[in-house]
Amino acid sequence: MRLLSIEDEPKTAAYLHKGLTEHGHVVDTARDGVEGLHLATSGHYDLILLDMALPGADGWQVLRELRGRQRTPVFVVSGRGELEDRVRGLQLGADDYLVKPFAFAELLARIQAVARRAVQPAAADPVVRVADLEVDAARRVARRGGRRLVLTAKEFALLEYLSRQVGQAVPRTLIAEHCWDMHFDSDTNVIDVAVRRLRAKVDDPFEDKLIHTIRGVGYVLEHRTA
Ligand code: CA
Repeated sequence: MRLLSIEDEPKTAAYLHKGLTEHGHVVDTARDGVEGLHLATSGHYDLILLDMALPGADGWQVLRELRGRQRTPVFVVSGRGELEDRVRGLQLGADDYLVKPFAFAELLARIQAVARRAVQPAAADPVVRVADLEVDAARRVARRGGRRLVLTAKEFALLEYLSRQVGQAVPRTLIAEHCWDMHFDSDTNVIDVAVRRLRAKVDDPFEDKLIHTIRGVGYVLEHRTA
């Protein structure tokens, strides 16, 4: 992907540039809001990483200006993690909001998730198949080995969310936001408990496990061949 990083702090800018480049992305960096807006509106980017405390025009101004002109996904990476800041960022049209300091693995996973949401409209193929597992989002039914799985509404929502992103690490925080409408990183233990219950139904009776843990990030639904 081609990314624009709007970040004034040299160390953070260098860290982002190095890490994202190492993962195959092309990264341009702007050091203030004015330069950021100029690059964002003149270049073509798949995603914009936006710091909030910036010289020139601050992140809020940049976000407002951008949303008046284009739909490029904007990923806020901010030192301010207050709930009101996050809500304001999302209300102004940010696609995601990550609070510094953050684990790079999580940043990567969330960037990928935002990019996928941007390219894939929600109404995709209603039936997802992974090995002998079938998840039918339209009928709200899941089967494994041809037999219907008896899932609670929450368990189905979780499985359905993972199935939309087969083979991709889904961060706990995104699961929390999507399936529980929670925006607090500290409450992700709820996710682990729910995943354990889901595994007891989806994976435990079968030899091939389909729900895997990605350490420090979240979970992935995929068929791994030995
Ligand atoms: Ca800053």
